[in-house]
Amino acid sequence: MITASPHPRLSSPAPDWRELWRDAITDAGELLQAVGLGDLAGRLPPNDAGFALRVPRGFVARMRRNDPADPLLLQVLPQLAELDQAADFVVDAVGDMDARAAHGVLHKYQGRALLIASGSCAVNCRYCFRRHFPYGDEMAAAGQWRQSLEHLRQDPSISELILSGGDPLSLATGKLQELSRGLTELPHITRLRIHSRLPVVLPERVDKALLDWLAALPLQKVLVLHANHASEIDAGVDQACARLRQSGVTLLNQSVLLRGINDTADSLANLSERLFAAGVLPYYLHQLDRVQGVAHFEVDDATALQLVDALRARLPGYLVPRLVREVAGEPSKRPL
Ligand SMILES: *Cc1c(COP(=O)(O)O)cnc(C)c1O
Ligand code: SF4
Repeated sequence: MITASPHPRLSSPAPDWRELWRDAITDAGELLQAVGLGDLAGRLPPNDAGFALRVPRGFVARMRRNDPADPLLLQVLPQLAELDQAADFVVDAVGDMDARAAHGVLHKYQGRALLIASGSCAVNCRYCFRRHFPYGDEMAAAGQWRQSLEHLRQDPSISELILSGGDPLSLATGKLQELSRGLTELPHITRLRIHSRLPVVLPERVDKALLDWLAALPLQKVLVLHANHASEIDAGVDQACARLRQSGVTLLNQSVLLRGINDTADSLANLSERLFAAGVLPYYLHQLDRVQGVAHFEVDDATALQLVDALRARLPGYLVPRLVREVAGEPSKRPL
């Protein structure tokens, strides 16, 4: 006999983040169905325009139904416009191929080295510069920690290691532990920074094991999230952020300025306010990297500057992100 539990939510354990990862939507038709837009399936590009669709169901649940202009949907749904060839939109827009200092290590800026810790993401963002980069070959996690750490050991000017990707929190916590053990043997490394979209798109990733690892880490810890719109932040994200802060992590956010998604002063102001409510400070607002297939997302510089001026006029200074562009060969991101 089957008896219904009076508290099914209490009796079943929280789903493991890896299960939720595997359960992501990867079919554009299914995504459209899920948000009540099945009739738009005929307008999808063939073969997802060459960049696989991937979006966790929890993120889909934050999309408005029956709205083809939903700002979350537009970040992940393949569009015919991605097939347009635009002049000046190239394969390696940020010069990453030239900045490789060692296997998986990008050393572009003074004092900071960036480790491509993983090539995978829980979500595939259509505007991503990564859509053309051969990250599969560059993953430091593929048993190559030693070589990457050796580069760090030999350069005492590096005080901060940035884990990026892809999404470094796509790695098992055990892998992160293994890396950080090697790091803490290098006395000149004082800060660990993690660039991750996972606490936003799959907040279940912020589980006890991850928090225990962070809390025990004898380094200063910074996590730079990636959210582009206030609607991305729900109660689950709030809770993940609160737990991260309790574990001694400073939380910042970077966004990409995206046409039709967050290119109004209201949208950007709401994002800053919503981030701060979650305990996160806005850090960067990026002008799009000009990679092939993303031209339809671009906002021109004059508009971008007007938007940031409008933000400055209505928000406290600490809620105004720095508007920057990544320019190959420069000593920092270039402020606009
Ligand atoms: C963006 C970036 C950094 C970090 O730059 P900050 O201005 O310190 O946030 C470091 N290394 C690389 C290769 C980068 O692209
Ligand atoms: S999470 Fe970041 S790295 Fe991954 S697809 Fe999105 S923008 Fe690209």
